[in-house]
Amino acid sequence: MSVIGIDFGNESCYVAAARSGGIETLANDYSLRATPSVVAFDGKKRIIGVAAKNQQVTNMKNTVGGFKRLLGRKFNDPHVQHELTSIPARVEARGDGSIGFKVNYLEEDQHFSPEQLTAMLFTKLKETSAAAMQTQVNDCVIACPIFFTNAERRALLDAAQIAGLNVLRLLNETTATALAYGFYKNDLFEEKPKNVIFIDFGHSALQVSACSFTKGKLKMLASTWDQIGGRDFDLAVAEFFTKEFQERYKINAKTNARANLRLLTEIEKLKKQMSANSTKLPLNIECFLEDIDVSSSMQRSQMEELCAPVLHRVEQTFKRLLAESKLQLDDIHSVEIVGGSSRIPSVKQLIEQVFNKPASTTLNQDEAVSRGAALQCAIMSPAVRVREFGVTDIQNYAVKVLWESEGSAGPGEIEIFPQFHASPFSRLLTINRNGPFNVSIVYGQQVPYPDQTIGVWKVKDVKPNERGEGQEVKLKVRINNNGIVLISSATLVEKKEAEEAAAAAAEQAASEEKSSEQAGGASNSAESADGQQEGSDKKKKTGKATELPLEVSTHGFSPVDLSNYTQQEAKMIGSDQKETERIDARNALEEFVYDMRNKLQGGSLERFVLESERVAIVSHLNDLENWLYEDGENCERETYANRLEALHKKTDPIKQRANDYDQCPAVFEELKGSI
Ligand code: ATP
Ligand code: MG
Repeated sequence: MSVIGIDFGNESCYVAAARSGGIETLANDYSLRATPSVVAFDGKKRIIGVAAKNQQVTNMKNTVGGFKRLLGRKFNDPHVQHELTSIPARVEARGDGSIGFKVNYLEEDQHFSPEQLTAMLFTKLKETSAAAMQTQVNDCVIACPIFFTNAERRALLDAAQIAGLNVLRLLNETTATALAYGFYKNDLFEEKPKNVIFIDFGHSALQVSACSFTKGKLKMLASTWDQIGGRDFDLAVAEFFTKEFQERYKINAKTNARANLRLLTEIEKLKKQMSANSTKLPLNIECFLEDIDVSSSMQRSQMEELCAPVLHRVEQTFKRLLAESKLQLDDIHSVEIVGGSSRIPSVKQLIEQVFNKPASTTLNQDEAVSRGAALQCAIMSPAVRVREFGVTDIQNYAVKVLWESEGSAGPGEIEIFPQFHASPFSRLLTINRNGPFNVSIVYGQQVPYPDQTIGVWKVKDVKPNERGEGQEVKLKVRINNNGIVLISSATLVEKKEAEEAAAAAAEQAASEEKSSEQAGGASNSAESADGQQEGSDKKKKTGKATELPLEVSTHGFSPVDLSNYTQQEAKMIGSDQKETERIDARNALEEFVYDMRNKLQGGSLERFVLESERVAIVSHLNDLENWLYEDGENCERETYANRLEALHKKTDPIKQRANDYDQCPAVFEELKGSI
């Protein structure tokens, strides 16, 4: 069994595996480490990753990308509507308001949600890992943006479950990077904390985190982020060229999705060249629109001007980190950069300006996130032995608990976790109650999700004591390993002494229980996605404790939907497999036809067959070739296999004669002479 870490990027994914020898970033079926986050549908099969991206321009309607930022959201969400302006696929609202990417697959129009598409991508990554590691993959750690809310985290876990992955932890992307850095630098750490800033500037997001390292552990301090990335540079430059082409050639790229995509592809290439080169660079696209070839040029300074608003937001995000982390410039040991867009020179300059330190590239900028995730997986999984390294992450948003009023007691509210509170972590909350009640967990600050509610928990079976008085209900409020906040258990404490029961209507428990699974405990995944209860609170000192049933309503698929989607994914994997086998069988037959014909016509087998027989076989091969391109183009695997077998029966004796000759030419010549 092997353990892996997944960096699911908006543009591309990386998978790293932990082996006893170390961490290795895995190559896919194209021998590339980056797998584009693109899924396509081609009549009978799905095409995922590199192959999907390669055919995007010719199959735009059935090629889908950019779905990471749509996870867990509804179609009408303003963020979704904004994202859709840059996604050249057909997207519709489904009956329940969720997002459906409309594609033609298996000869019918079908809708797939961002979660299902993510699951398809995970299936591909799972296959990549299995092929590279020569073993099945189950346990994984998936990195996710620090700013992902409850709905998005649960959606990501749902996607992983649909793909049959066992997620040991969702790890924030910058935390994964920090682990990839700290694990190998442990010798340099002391008792006194060393503070390092990690900046991940990707395709759709900028994330900045401050982390403090001491011997054997890391602790995240604060994070800031913005929804800007490399694509915003591309779009600003595209806007410029579109205008220029309109003026010079009287064509509008925006009227044609294919032209627009080609323009963005060329601009991305140009942008990467501009990172290495400050001189004027050409942009040429043949037959761009209406058979017109377009050409222009740009230099770095011009791009920087066009992208000034994006760069301003980058600078603001850096400055906010300094304020949020309360670190002085002298407290910062180094600023490490990862993510494709951190290669942009003006971004590096901003880093130097704001942090007064050069941007440091200790880590592999593309692979660090996946490598950190793989390390975390290795630390947590019993399958691989690695040295311990403690990881204390943070809860990115303040979280509040609200409860309903009961009788004369009014409703209550408490900020249970302030912003940047350590994660994972559990806190006990004691509420005095006579009967069942509802508790809500909500974000205590503006979050990038339209619904501030994390979930509502109904605490059942609460009853008054023998004297008809309310009793203590202890709620364990927990940020779990996945950065998901939930009520993990509710306990009714029936006290013997009347005085003891006179607790305040609601108070935060004096005992603050630090989660026992800080820093890499492995026991989390079972309760992560569905708010099940966990073991009872062992710290109660008095009275009889009864575990109370909880009913939760939160984001994420219902168990029934999840099971249906899982079955659907398994069916699609089966049908992809069948289609691959069918195409392989067709290719095998085609290859045999060509090969045999060459060998029989002036090739190595010609002299080992009677002329009449040879002519008959060649004619049969010609017929087969025509059939393959006409009636036989879309047959079942067995049809091709049967024809190949029949061909073998005809031609194997000829090959056998050739082999016999090779073994012992003298005997053969003798025999020939005697015939
Ligand atoms: P995200 O982290 O936002 O989900 P991602 O992880 O897929 O997305 P990365 O792979 O880190 O993103 O970065 C991809 C972005 O980096 C693209 O916009 C790409 O154009 C840009 N990029 C890559 N190399 C360079 C370069 N040399 N110069 C400028 N930009 C680059
Ligand atoms: Mg990324």
